[in-house]
Amino acid sequence: MSKNKKLVQEITSMDVDFAKWYTDVVKKADLIDYSSVRGCMIIKPYGYAIWELLQSQLDSKLKETGHKNVYMPMFIPESLLEKEKDHVEGFAPEVAWVTHGGQEKLTERLCVRPTSETLFCEHYANDIQSYRDLPRLYNQWCSVVRWEKTTRPFLRTLEFLWQEGHTAHATAEEAQEETLKILDIYSDFCENILAIPMIKGQKTDKEKFAGALRTYTIESLMHDGKALQSGTTHNFGDGFAKAFDIQYTDKENNLSYVHQTSWGVTTRLIGALIMVHGDDSGLIVPPKIAPTQLRIIPIAQHKEGVLEKADELKRQLSQIVRVDLDDSDKSPGWKFSECEMKGIPLRLEIGPKDIEKGQAVLVRRDTREKIFISLDEVNEKVLQTLEIIQKELLEKARIHRNAHTYEAKNLEQLKSILEETPGFIKGMWCGDRACEDKIKEETGATSRCIPFEGESIGDICVCCGKPADKLVIWAKAY
Ligand code: AMP
Ligand code: ZN
Repeated sequence: MSKNKKLVQEITSMDVDFAKWYTDVVKKADLIDYSSVRGCMIIKPYGYAIWELLQSQLDSKLKETGHKNVYMPMFIPESLLEKEKDHVEGFAPEVAWVTHGGQEKLTERLCVRPTSETLFCEHYANDIQSYRDLPRLYNQWCSVVRWEKTTRPFLRTLEFLWQEGHTAHATAEEAQEETLKILDIYSDFCENILAIPMIKGQKTDKEKFAGALRTYTIESLMHDGKALQSGTTHNFGDGFAKAFDIQYTDKENNLSYVHQTSWGVTTRLIGALIMVHGDDSGLIVPPKIAPTQLRIIPIAQHKEGVLEKADELKRQLSQIVRVDLDDSDKSPGWKFSECEMKGIPLRLEIGPKDIEKGQAVLVRRDTREKIFISLDEVNEKVLQTLEIIQKELLEKARIHRNAHTYEAKNLEQLKSILEETPGFIKGMWCGDRACEDKIKEETGATSRCIPFEGESIGDICVCCGKPADKLVIWAKAY
């Protein structure tokens, strides 16, 4: 068996065992390593480079819309966490506690932040005085800790990297506007940069964030037909402001409570990327988020002039794309499969015969299409092809999602669809929590969201048959 085959054969086929395929890919594509703490991961250079690209591009969007980055402490005193009742109730089961500093027992336990609302609120209570201080548009990039029962690299880890936005506004309308504006930013970012189509909608009360008035979500569909909550934005109304006494004097000199929001996306998005675009040869990274957009692989590199030409092309292309050159002594076949495993969107092959003919070969990772190009048009062709890949990956994901979106009129239909062909299932809902619970219990599906673009597909609840006017997307989820 050639080495080339081995690299690929070591990953499980996604149709055989999707979960195993996923963990194989994260390892073989060199994204992460496991650490000695259950549920924590070591993000390796290739995985971290994807995160950095995600971070920098989202960060500019947030700055363009007036948000400023800050940094809060990682510890929250127990008494502070407890100030907002719903919030502490929601998070208490998954909080990690620091009880000692060195040998000494602390007089008050400190929780390792699972999210930082309470810290921002404490700060805002001190820092916001007048309407002139509003709106406060803060964001922080950090890691948080939630003691999850089951974990999976990127998708659900004990510690994860994220950004958390925390804003304070003078009016309820402004807070609502912000909550929806960020949801749009998230959704556009996922579609344009990660090539993942999103459904925007509102969470039901059961699924909303602890302490929120309303939670909004972007939901995506993975290759195996399971949903992934990919990001959330929360409108808190003045609930936290009342619990933390965050008041400002308005123009008429009256004291008013602020209205707040928070929102976050995490390293989970890398998991989405893997599960939406990947295939049996490994990862497929959309060009806009790819640390290496093009890899040059010389053929018969010992022959005179090949490495020189490859190097010249690398220098030329580095002006316009993120490019590298694999001039290691591995065989071309091995290099090809490594390039595929890492999901590098384009590879360029160049050998003695190509040089003679003044050409090179571009190979697309997503379709494996080979494109012969003249050396005079390398720059244009590379840019053009990367653009096409970016566009077609989104299109392909959208087709897959649409093909796996169904409608159910009753519980039996919902069940049988989930068993045969999992996906997003549209079903009307009466608004009763008991129906959500029953659906979860009997089918394993949860309400993903009440989509903004929710048409009506009937007038009775998919579960109880009583009158219903809300369309819900139901799915099994990660
Ligand atoms: P939340 O603050 O609970 O609204 O979380 C914000 C986002 O973080 C969610 O929408 C998820 O996409 C993501 N998320 C939640 N828990 C985890 C976790 N354990 N690991 C990675 N991402 C997570
Ligand atoms: Zn019902």
